[in-house]
Amino acid sequence: MACCGRGHEIRGPQDRLSDGYTCRYCHRENQTRYNHRRKAAVELLHAAEGRGMTVADALALIRHAPVRTIQDCAVHPRLADA
Ligand SMILES: [Zn+2]
Repeated sequence: MACCGRGHEIRGPQDRLSDGYTCRYCHRENQTRYNHRRKAAVELLHAAEGRGMTVADALALIRHAPVRTIQDCAVHPRLADA
């Protein structure tokens, strides 16, 4: 039985994309993962904008604030307004 690198069974051309190489099931999993990550990114942006932040503000916060401080805000939400 032929399998892709991730172990999906490849029974024939129908299990590959039109490029003839890419596993259809891997592609589907990759697309699902990508869509979940994209949805999470948009939720992050909406949350930031909801607090009056710009995209630049949100990126600066994520890039520069100590992770421990951000995690503390998740545990104690009132810290976020301090
Ligand atoms: Zn696969």
